[in-house]
Amino acid sequence: MGKLIEQLVDISGEQNVLQNEPMKRHTTFRIGGPCDIFIKPGSIEEIRQIIEVVKENKVPYYVVGNGSNLLVSDDGYRGVIINLFNNFSDITVEGNTITASAGALLGKIGYTALKNSLTGFEFATGIPGTLGGAVVMNAGAYGGEMKDVLSEVTVLTKEGELLTLKADELELGYRTSIIAKKDYIVLEGKIQLKPGEPDKIKAVIDDLAFRRRDKQPLEYPSAGSTFKRPKDNFAGKLIMDAGLRGYTSGGAMVSDKHCGFVINKGDATCEDVIKLTDHVKEEVKNQFGIELELEVKKLI
Ligand SMILES: Cc1cc2nc3c(=O)[nH]c(=O)nc-3n(C[C@H](O)[C@H](O)[C@H](O)COP(=O)(O)OP(=O)(O)OC[C@H]3O[C@@H](n4cnc5c(N)ncnc54)[C@H](O)[C@@H]3O)c2cc1C
Repeated sequence: MGKLIEQLVDISGEQNVLQNEPMKRHTTFRIGGPCDIFIKPGSIEEIRQIIEVVKENKVPYYVVGNGSNLLVSDDGYRGVIINLFNNFSDITVEGNTITASAGALLGKIGYTALKNSLTGFEFATGIPGTLGGAVVMNAGAYGGEMKDVLSEVTVLTKEGELLTLKADELELGYRTSIIAKKDYIVLEGKIQLKPGEPDKIKAVIDDLAFRRRDKQPLEYPSAGSTFKRPKDNFAGKLIMDAGLRGYTSGGAMVSDKHCGFVINKGDATCEDVIKLTDHVKEEVKNQFGIELELEVKKLI
């Protein structure tokens, strides 16, 4: 690891390469043990070089954004976590198009759209992820999804090539895309919006934020909706109907405000969440014959 750390420090600078960094500091669940190396690159060229040296050293790597859809093992991660959230978050506007680096927060993109009187991104403004994570997940809310607004995305391929893909090449479906299947790293995306009136845009953003605060347990750490929405149904309703509102496993609990959320009551471990979600899946399957599938990505 010593040689790899030196190489990474040469690429991104000492202050951007951390060792034994607890992943609970970088997930909205506030769960996850230490990773060997945590690096915060600031440019596409740095990311390209990092992948090159990590591969040369035959060490595994994993890319994270804001960690808002991530459950990390209590043992942490043996390898390099490449964090694109902090240092890689430029946002520029040209006409009706916003270009954002993968680490730009959706909230910041939303407020940039508002400042520039552009409408169409209001749905995403309250989702606490980065552009990269939102492309991977085809994040969506309140009737909108990334698929509706993305025009193209630049990715880094496994072979170290830069590739620009049109939105219809990304296979954006319900919380899926081609990115994970191909092991691409999202570097940048273009978002196509329409001219709008700032007062109306602001009113929609405020209304959606109110609805989130009203319905979701935002006062507790979580990773948002724990399960994907099953066909013609809602995970939260099935979990509630199964009698699991408030069900706990260690520090993890099915939120009593919104049963679709598993929350961290304070000291939950990854193991607590796994035990809880396994039990929820089993009960829902036994009672209603429906298989729930995790929306949250596991790094275990
Ligand atoms: C309170 C709360 C509310 C939420 N509400 C919603 C909602 O309404 N709708 C919704 O869709 N989601 C919601 N989420 C979930 C989450 O915010 C989204 O899935 C978001 O898009 C994840 O982005 P992230 O940057 O946090 O990704 P992370 O959690 O860091 O990563 C998620 C996955 O994407 C991969 N990834 C991240 N960045 C890149 C990149 N640049 N290149 C390649 N792979 C990458 C990671 O490896 C991982 O597999 C919510 C979460 C919380 C905590």
